[in-house]
This record gives sequence, C-alpha cells and structure tokens, in this order.
Amino acid sequence: MKRITIQEIATFCKRKGFVFPSSEIYGGFAGFYDYGPLGAELKMNIKEEWWNTFVRARDDVLGIDACTITQHAVWKASGHVESFTDPLVACRRCNAKHRADHLIEDALGISVDGITPEQVNEMIAKHNLRCPRCGGELSSVTTFNLMFKTFVGAVEDEAHVAYLRPETAQSIFTNFKLILDTSRIKLPFGIAQMGRVYRNEISPRDFLFRMREFEQMEIEYFVHPDKINECPYLTKEILDYKLNVYSAEMQKCNKEMEKMRVEDALKKGIITTAWHAYWLAVFYRWLVDLGLNPERLRIRQHLPEERSHYARDTWDIEYLFPFGWKEIHGMSNRSDYDLKQHMKFSGKDLSYFDDEERKKVIPHVIEPSQGVDRLFLALLIDAYTQEEDRVVLKLNPKLAPYKVGVFPLVSRDGLDEIAKGVYGRLKNEFTCFYDEKGSIGRRYARQDEIGTPFCVTVDYQTKEDNTVTIRDRDTKQQIRVKIERLEEVLRKLIRREITLKELG
Ligand code: ATP
Repeated sequence: MKRITIQEIATFCKRKGFVFPSSEIYGGFAGFYDYGPLGAELKMNIKEEWWNTFVRARDDVLGIDACTITQHAVWKASGHVESFTDPLVACRRCNAKHRADHLIEDALGISVDGITPEQVNEMIAKHNLRCPRCGGELSSVTTFNLMFKTFVGAVEDEAHVAYLRPETAQSIFTNFKLILDTSRIKLPFGIAQMGRVYRNEISPRDFLFRMREFEQMEIEYFVHPDKINECPYLTKEILDYKLNVYSAEMQKCNKEMEKMRVEDALKKGIITTAWHAYWLAVFYRWLVDLGLNPERLRIRQHLPEERSHYARDTWDIEYLFPFGWKEIHGMSNRSDYDLKQHMKFSGKDLSYFDDEERKKVIPHVIEPSQGVDRLFLALLIDAYTQEEDRVVLKLNPKLAPYKVGVFPLVSRDGLDEIAKGVYGRLKNEFTCFYDEKGSIGRRYARQDEIGTPFCVTVDYQTKEDNTVTIRDRDTKQQIRVKIERLEEVLRKLIRREITLKELG
C-alpha cells in the first residue's frame, strides 16, 4: 500500500484542524507550527499517557516543571555554549544558509552523521557540491550554535544574556540536590520533565520532524555508579522482548539490522549496560503499545564520532518515516558528566550520600528523551489509512481527540432530543462530538477521518427499548447497548479491554 508523504500529511493536518503553519495569515514562520483543536487534544493525550506511565505509575520517578529561560551559567557548565552546534555553509551568491551535513546527505544520498568540519570541506570540494537553491558556490564550513539567545532585564549586553532551553534535561540536573533533599528518594530513581524547548535549526524541514520550537518528555534516570549493570526491573518478560537492533558495528560492516531479544543483545555486549537495555525495551514497547508498527521501529546505536559531547553511549529509537529511518527518541548514557560539570561550575556539592556504603557518590545517568511532536507525526502517519474512497485514522482509542461521536439517525421525531441527552451524559467522561448534519454515512465518514473510535447512534428502536447502536471505526461493526450501560461499555472499549465483536 502506498504510504502517505510528508506533504500530504501536512495538508491533511491543516485541512482537519490538527496542525497549522504558525501565523499563517502572515505567510507562516519556518520551523513553527500551531496545534489546532484536534491536534491539541491528540498531543495532550500523548503527554498524559507518558506522564501517567512514567511518573504517576512508578514509585521511582518524580516529575518537575522548570523554567524555559535559563541563565548563561547553566549552559556554560553543560557544554552547550561551546558544543551545541551544527555545521553551516553559506552560498556565496544568494547567501542562503544550509546545514552542511544535510546538504551532503541530500546531494549524495549517504548518511554523514558526526562528520567533522574538515571532512565537510573535503566532500564539498571533491563532489563539487553547489547551493541547492541557486547553484552558487558554497563557503567553507563554520559552526552555528542552535540556542536562542535573549536578554533578561532592561539592559541588552553580554552580562544579561540568557537562553531559551534547548532541552529539558539541564534543569533536572540543576534541581537535583533540592529534589533529593525534599523527597528523600533513594537510588536508583528518575526525575522527569515535559515541556517546550527551542532550537534555532539551520534548516527546519519535514513538517513536525524538525521544528524550532517543540516539546520534549525526558527522564534523567540516576543510578549508583557501580550498579549500572544491576537493574531489578529486567524481568523475564522484558529480557524476552524483541527489538530491531542496528548497532554501530552493524553499520560499519554494512550489515542489516537484526531482530533480537533484549537478553541476547546484552549477552553479546551489543547493548553494554543493563539499565540502558531496560529503558530501551520499555520505551520501544510503549511506542508499540501506543500504535506504532513494530516493523517500522528499530534501535540504532550512534557511531563514536556522532555522539554528543556528554554521551558515553547513545542509542536512538528510530521510526521508518516516508523519508527514511529517523530518530524519534534519543537515549544516552550521560554517565556522571552533567552533575560533575555543575559541581565544578557552581561550586555546590551535588553528590548522593549512600547510606549502605556510608560514602558520597556521583550517580550515573541514563536519559530517555522523547520528542512529543515527532511521535505525534509518526503516530498520525501510521494511523492514516486509505480505504477505497475514504480515509480512516486508526489511532489508538486512548489517544484519539474525540472518543465518541453521538448522532440521532434523523434530527426529528424526538430522536435529536434523546441524542442530545446521551451526548450531555457522555461528555462528563469522554471527549464527544455531536452531529446531526448530513446523511448518517457521511457523519460516520467524518468521524473516521479524524480518528473517533466509536459512534453512538440514536434511532427509532431507541424509543422502544432504550438501546442505541455503537459502531466501531475500524471494523464498521455495530452492536446495540442499553443507554444506561453506555459509559461502562465505552470505557472498556476505549481501554481495549474488550472488543465490539466480543460484546456482539
Ligand atoms: P537530530 O539528530 O534529529 O537533530 P537530536 O539528536 O538533536 O535530533 P535529541 O537532542 O536527542 O535530538 O532530542 C531528543 C528528542 O527531541 C529527539 O529524539 C526528537 O524526538 C526531539 N527533537 C530533537 N530535535 C527536534 C526538532 N528540531 N524538532 C522536533 N523534535 C525534535
């Protein structure tokens, strides 16, 4: 089946009210997108799922919500002022700016992640690469810092420079001691945060894939430095879980990715630490549970030259987008890099006191970092299904913007009054959409297209026996249910505890 292209999904999102180009009436703003009514609901549902699963349901993870503008000292210590850069080349003729590694990848169809500035210059010269916009000659490479700078207070000078955060992680590290002291949580534990981040991407592209303002959901998971291989949560079920694995070695030897049990990846030393393996498996499984096709997911290890300045080892969870395999989730082993840097620059003690050993240690960190918008995009692409003349958005019911559509078969003979009553009741628990316009087939199609998993219809039989029909978006099957049982049945259907078929 032909997959939807990124341009088609962007058009669909705009047409149905999921996502709009930001300030569209002024021509849009590259790299910025606004979520419309349906998109806002879907995005909130994704974030809620993440927060419920990884913060509320766990005893070992605490959530915070920190500022998005942060002082210079934090980013100096973290290394971002120095190293959070991308390679940039400019056109000598039209002055267009290009991200050098992307320009090479597009021109030659190869991946050059982690390429050095010297290598960029060599490749541009060797392949005589020109400006993709006008064919002009390209400058030599420079580096461009992706952080958005601002000034705090009424004076605009170097002493008042601050940054819009490019990741949520750093405020977790700067608050580490306060969280430790106020919660008295013990290792191993995680601190989670979701929120907006900002990156002045040189060339934003591919719709929600590369934006300049987006959201992240991150956990910094702290582990005793000597216990990075002691993960009590690596149950048999997780060890048996199969992942598509694409290690640095496989990439170097031009091998294919391999489907592998988590335990085998650990035993073969492909994934080197137990905690890293645990979090990779947990997130992979979570993504599959949300609705991503497992065949379009893989974990890919960064090549050594590709790793960020803070990372000891990094794996990305990648999704097969219509434009190729790309990261939707990054997972680094940040070791004790960040806590040590902040200790050095702030002069404060950010160690953890180990009661058993009666000594201070600096915990090591595994960081599951999930972009909300890239996940939103992947979920929409996977859910988008063309069925003959109509589109069905097969979203997981728990993520769908509207859970239930409510219709009277016809808007007369009192059916509309009953339907409005049903709608009023269901609205207390579910996001619902009431519709009495057009044929019933047309109304079903409208809900199918925006992913509403169930539609409830009031018809003439309702007047006789107080039953309504529930229709399933994916199978089109319908069953009759007593109005008083609607909430209970819909609750189970949405959680996928039962199917309509089983009820029928
Ligand atoms: P890339 O290599 O694609 O630029 P990255 O390695 O810089 O990504 P991370 O710093 O690991 O990304 O960020 C964690 C997550 O944040 C990513 O997995 C992705 O989901 C999301 N993310 C990063 N950059 C962007 C962006 N410009 N637009 C949308 N989401 C992003």
